[in-house]
Amino acid sequence: RFITFEGGDGAGKTTQSRLLADHFAAQGRTVVHTREPGGTDFGVEVREIVLHSRSHIDPRAEALLYAADRAHHVATVVRPALERGDVVLQDRYFDSSVAYQGAGRVLDAGQIRDLSIWAVDGLLPDLTILLDLDPSAARARLDVARTRYDRLEAEAAEFHERVRAAFLDLAAAEPERFLVVDAALPVEEIARIVRERVDASA
Ligand code: C5P
Ligand code: MG
Repeated sequence: RFITFEGGDGAGKTTQSRLLADHFAAQGRTVVHTREPGGTDFGVEVREIVLHSRSHIDPRAEALLYAADRAHHVATVVRPALERGDVVLQDRYFDSSVAYQGAGRVLDAGQIRDLSIWAVDGLLPDLTILLDLDPSAARARLDVARTRYDRLEAEAAEFHERVRAAFLDLAAAEPERFLVVDAALPVEEIARIVRERVDASA
């Protein structure tokens, strides 16, 4: 099974994907818990460029860098794991590109999606958990948790509002693939809602 976690920065994707990994592990499943950008050694290099380059990066160039990270990650980590029968839990996938590179950078959402689908040769998630959170609440969490900010966190509030709206639009367009959860709920409550959906669609 291939389950992705999406949402803005600070929504709790990492926390929730870890908790779901524990849930699968308790059932005796082998879990590959991974992320984008940066789920491979090559991806870590790409991540450093897209998040910390001191140069301005043209939006199309940025979109191609995320696509390159994703292509390599899917080819070398995700597909092999799925072929072994492992559960793959992933922080961010192509919905993030549609939201950030599409709505955030104002590129064409359909083209960004097509680019991603080409990059991964058509691999779609079985289920996508969207952790939805008001960007200002998310920002407050990040300020508490972090010392090092990336280029995206320097973006204006309107950028993050566009990203949030884009994620919600994606979820509304594919309700069977998405589970939208209010990320302001307590961690354990979110984890329970996620487990319920995951177990129901097993
Ligand atoms: O989820 P994570 O904290 O690893 O994301 C790192 C940064 O990359 C975040 O600021 C996120 O907004 C950004 N990002 C992006 N486009 C993507 C994936 C991540 O702008 N497709
Ligand atoms: Mg995170």
